[in-house]
Amino acid sequence: MFNRRNFLSKSLLASLSIGVVGCQSETTNHEELPTSQNVSKQSSTPNKPISIATWTHGKEANEVAMKILLEKGKAIDAVEQGVRIVEADPKGTSVGIGGTPDRDGHVTLDACIMDEKGNAGAVCFLEGIKHPISVARKIMDETPHVMLAGEGALQFALENGFEKENLLTDFSDKAWNKWLKKKKYSPKVNSENHDTISQIAIDLEGNISGSCTTSGLGYKMRGRVGDSPIIGASLFVDNEVGAACATGLGEVVMKTLGSFLIVELMRNGATPEEACKEAVMRIIKKYDWKELQVGYLAVNKAGEYGAYAVQKGFNYAVHVDGENKLINAPYFYKNPKEEN
Ligand code: ASP
Repeated sequence: MFNRRNFLSKSLLASLSIGVVGCQSETTNHEELPTSQNVSKQSSTPNKPISIATWTHGKEANEVAMKILLEKGKAIDAVEQGVRIVEADPKGTSVGIGGTPDRDGHVTLDACIMDEKGNAGAVCFLEGIKHPISVARKIMDETPHVMLAGEGALQFALENGFEKENLLTDFSDKAWNKWLKKKKYSPKVNSENHDTISQIAIDLEGNISGSCTTSGLGYKMRGRVGDSPIIGASLFVDNEVGAACATGLGEVVMKTLGSFLIVELMRNGATPEEACKEAVMRIIKKYDWKELQVGYLAVNKAGEYGAYAVQKGFNYAVHVDGENKLINAPYFYKNPKEEN
């Protein structure tokens, strides 16, 4: 995973040095934008189960989720169990155990979950618990609140049978120690330091749910919380319309409330990809997009799905019609050299 990230990071930097000014000057005119280059929409009959999730590890999450959906399980269980497999993988450096720590060496986790009834649960700045998504689910199911943070979240988790464990793996510890030598604090996300898993599923009843879980930005300031536990930013579900989720630099996702925006745009007739693209454009118009990445993913009630990202490199996994496939999302910035 680190190799892939480094590679993407380098190619991103290389690509950004070419042709970026011309591209930027077109940002207010959607007609001028690059059109979608990948197949990312598909019709699906209602009540056909579908699971969709960010990044390559989305495939594993989809496998777990689809099994549940095909056994007539609920979408909310599918998206909880789906992302748990990624949280439990110590090799994944962006989620759960093995997550990249903050700049002081602490792994702090954010997660949220939302069901078809509009119920939501979230946890942020949680330490020592491998499955923040299940803590979020418990908060949703068993408390009158939506979000618990830090020590309170940990106390709640321990009271509810979750076990405290060390989430800093040898690999992440070594990488952190290496980072400490230069201590370059760079809160801007590019392709090397984001890989949050967000997942959306529709079950056989046609109900929609979503989840999101992350260790957040690598080497972030202690106490930093991103978009991932914020309902409406990293995730939003409206069972009448569809759902959307995010990955990338949480700060701009929070400031534009991307997932809520996407669902509202779909309510007003946009396709999932059009809605994701508009949410990306809100970022492009206001912020310095050259050094950040955000990818959005959306599914509507009919099971059509779509995605859009700021930069090249965002992919997602879709499990539908018996196939679990990876798709490269269309994106705003196109390097003219790569086009030829
Ligand atoms: N959205 C996450 C955050 O800002 C980062 C990621 O997508 O990996 O914490």
